[in-house]
Amino acid sequence: MDEGSNGSILSSIRNLFRKSDSPLEEHFRDAVEEGEINSEDVRILQNVIDLEDKRVSEIMTPRPDIICAEVDSAIGEVAELIVQHGHSRIPVYEDNRDHIVGVVHAKDVLSPLLTPQSPQATLADLMRPPHFVPETTNLRTLLRDLQSTRIHMAIVLDEYGGTAGLVTLEDVLEQIVGEIGDEHDVLRPEEVQEMPDGTMLVSGRVPLDEFNELFDLELVSDQVETIGGYFCELAGRIPAKGETFTMGGWRFLVEEADAKHIETVRAVRVAEED
Ligand code: ADP
Repeated sequence: MDEGSNGSILSSIRNLFRKSDSPLEEHFRDAVEEGEINSEDVRILQNVIDLEDKRVSEIMTPRPDIICAEVDSAIGEVAELIVQHGHSRIPVYEDNRDHIVGVVHAKDVLSPLLTPQSPQATLADLMRPPHFVPETTNLRTLLRDLQSTRIHMAIVLDEYGGTAGLVTLEDVLEQIVGEIGDEHDVLRPEEVQEMPDGTMLVSGRVPLDEFNELFDLELVSDQVETIGGYFCELAGRIPAKGETFTMGGWRFLVEEADAKHIETVRAVRVAEED
């Protein structure tokens, strides 16, 4: 796809529906009912259209979660970070996280590690210049920007020029097609845990059908596949820690959430009169 093709796809979709005043969703619904398009494709189209209304700050990995290295770190220390956390791009800072001065890729640290006898490169030699974006950038602009610069990671700046977080191409693509895992993503074996007090801790990644089975519910969605996604859909945003949803004799409390996901929900049985 070239730089302008996102824009032209969007305008074609808009032109297609310009003739009438009814909302795009209605056209999509009709098109699905008439069998012209399937609901999965509609979900993706809607997500593409919504890119313009979402900001980088809504999807970025926030500053405290950034795995980064100080510019004077040894190459071996950076390799350890890569192995330990499974990220292939490591931002490099000088003094503190507000001064990101580069990004080093796992592939760039391999060669000096394999040839320790040759003069040792420093991190500053290996890193590439960081690419910065303001946190208010919308995702459509970000996607075009990452495509045209052929860069996969951007450092997100707050209004004072400090580091607010980082965002990668994968974060943006996930907004269109849903979760994209890779071989290094951490698998969570304990998706559901029964606690001694009778409550249950449930990962936000548990698929909706498994959740229904577990709590004898009939939650359905054609937008999301996980229970975390379902509660976000219900709330129309990412619910904050402590928010609750009551249904089918259970109260579900958001136990852990960040700017992007519900991590864990605690299920508590409620008394009949609740
Ligand atoms: P990787 O596979 O190297 O982790 P991706 O682009 O696939 O890189 O990103 C996967 C997720 O990890 C994204 O949510 C992204 O924001 C996050 N991420 C990538 N690199 C880092 C890093 N150095 N520190 C913290 N989070 C990161």
